[in-house]
Amino acid sequence: MGGMREITRSYYERASEAEKEKIKLTFAKFDINGDGKITIAELKSLMRIPEDVFHKLDVNGDGCLDFDEFLCLHYISASKMPLVYCDGCSQFMEGPYFSCLLCLGRGANTYDLCCSCYRRCAESSHEHSVEHMVDHLSLLKLFREEKAQNKVPNKN
Ligand SMILES: [Zn+2]
Ligand SMILES: [Zn+2]
Repeated sequence: MGGMREITRSYYERASEAEKEKIKLTFAKFDINGDGKITIAELKSLMRIPEDVFHKLDVNGDGCLDFDEFLCLHYISASKMPLVYCDGCSQFMEGPYFSCLLCLGRGANTYDLCCSCYRRCAESSHEHSVEHMVDHLSLLKLFREEKAQNKVPNKN
């Protein structure tokens, strides 16, 4: 897990001691045999989780979630991190991806592509063409430019 893991770790570092304690308790609840790792069987006995999401969260591929890997799951279920699926290959995307700018304003009906689907021109089956597909860094830049333009000049 690339960017998302960095972000969720950062949220955790800034969380209050009470919140950290709560997250640790949740981890302990899922870690039924107390070995410091959560297996998919342990997780599935307590919550519904798509297998592909589990495998994406399991960065080192050992079939278990350690505490850092679990943090991503925690922030996803707390809805702090959006769970976005690629409209090309339906995979859950945890890293940088591309979004259709024209579809973004339509609420839940966004059109998003993982980098490899973007590279293989998956948007050719989408109603909007490639020039409307923007990556997240460029999206942030557009947002900043818009903010700057909307700034009312100070009269004094
Ligand atoms: Zn894809
Ligand atoms: Zn679109």
